[in-house]
Amino acid sequence: MGIILDETKCTGCGVCVSVCPFDAIEMVGHKPVIGPGCTMCKKCIESCPFEALSLEVSENAGSAKIDLSEYHGVWVFAEHREGNLMPAVAGLMGEGRKLANEIGTHLAAIICGYQVDDLVKQMIALGADKVYLCENELLKTYTTDGSAIAITQAIERYKPEIVLYGATHIGRDLAPRISARVDTGLTADCTILEIDPVDKKLLQTRPAFGGNLMATIVCEKTRPQMATVRPGVMASAKPDPNRSGEVITVELSLDKKDIRTEVLEKVKKSEKLFLLWMLKS
Ligand code: SF4
Ligand code: SF4
Repeated sequence: MGIILDETKCTGCGVCVSVCPFDAIEMVGHKPVIGPGCTMCKKCIESCPFEALSLEVSENAGSAKIDLSEYHGVWVFAEHREGNLMPAVAGLMGEGRKLANEIGTHLAAIICGYQVDDLVKQMIALGADKVYLCENELLKTYTTDGSAIAITQAIERYKPEIVLYGATHIGRDLAPRISARVDTGLTADCTILEIDPVDKKLLQTRPAFGGNLMATIVCEKTRPQMATVRPGVMASAKPDPNRSGEVITVELSLDKKDIRTEVLEKVKKSEKLFLLWMLKS
């Protein structure tokens, strides 16, 4: 899904550039070019005086046209900070293995980063049959834009059936952005994942209405089926350093100007000190 330009209608007036709240449009010659920073807010479509912009209707968009048989594999987003995998990842790999076995497919990890060979080994040890490696210096430190662009490109190329993220700060930040870009559903904060024994679809269960009932959500017509999973509720995979797996380097189209944030400094704060400060102030 994306914004498309009808060049026959566009006069090059530049209104769309000035209204875009995300600076995602740049004029190249006399024509607007929409970059990967686009969040599909549609402001430019509404503002174009010549109706030259429209929303591209993806083959996914709520129709039964998408060929579900093209999508294979369960992917786990390997969230890491400063070279260390987040604890949620082992739980996702444990659950991912169970789901992959029930469907009869492979389990894969997707890693975004730079010089992360050790993480590749760790993900294979945790059960990954394949590792999709999005390696680029621009991905050295996590940014929403960088990882969203990289994972979207990987999903579009390799078509996974299921993608799991931890319901962590980063997972909650990243997964909705990717689901909008690949035009599929996302169930947040799942506590139970199962495979429907009849059609092999993912049954995504999460608390609803303030936790008073459990809702099971199915992504019927689009792929991948995506969920964030509450950390600590799934049994963790046990690492086996003797496992081997395939590493697939994802070719990325990623430019510095696509990333709208820059990490200048990381400040680690003690939770206890922070609480003390809160109580005192
Ligand atoms: S606002 Fe419309 S006509 Fe003007 S540059 Fe943008 S797309 Fe072209
Ligand atoms: S849809 Fe929104 S974010 Fe995307 S180019 Fe248009 S105004 Fe910018």
